[in-house]
Amino acid sequence: MKCTKVTRRLPALLAGELRAEEVLELKRHLTLCPGCRAARAALEADSRLLGELAAPEPGPWFTGRVMAEVRAASRRSGRPAWVRALAGTGLAVLVAAGVWAGTTFGGDLFGGGTAADPLAVNNEPSLTEYLELAAGSGR
Ligand SMILES: [Zn+2]
Repeated sequence: MKCTKVTRRLPALLAGELRAEEVLELKRHLTLCPGCRAARAALEADSRLLGELAAPEPGPWFTGRVMAEVRAASRRSGRPAWVRALAGTGLAVLVAAGVWAGTTFGGDLFGGGTAADPLAVNNEPSLTEYLELAAGSGR
């Protein structure tokens, strides 16, 4: 087994995602190859560090800021809250349907475009864009 294949498979090895025969083959290579052993040690160290990091909690200001943006968008639109909520829900459903259709049919419709292209799939607006779209829909 070549070193490039071993280093590509190391994350799967550490995650316990490989078949038993693949594990044996990799471990055999690792006993003989100091370069790949070093790569595995570095990956294990990185994984430990990542495991020690806690996911950040949103600060106490987070909800207040989001609600302030929602209120500001509501004031800009001048429509009743239930109409804006309905428009926002409809937009979210449209975006979700578009992403689904793009990932499901995109490759066939556009002759070989891949759904793995992150630019092709990420059609979701940011929170600010979403609120502006929801507030401005129907104008
Ligand atoms: Zn190697």
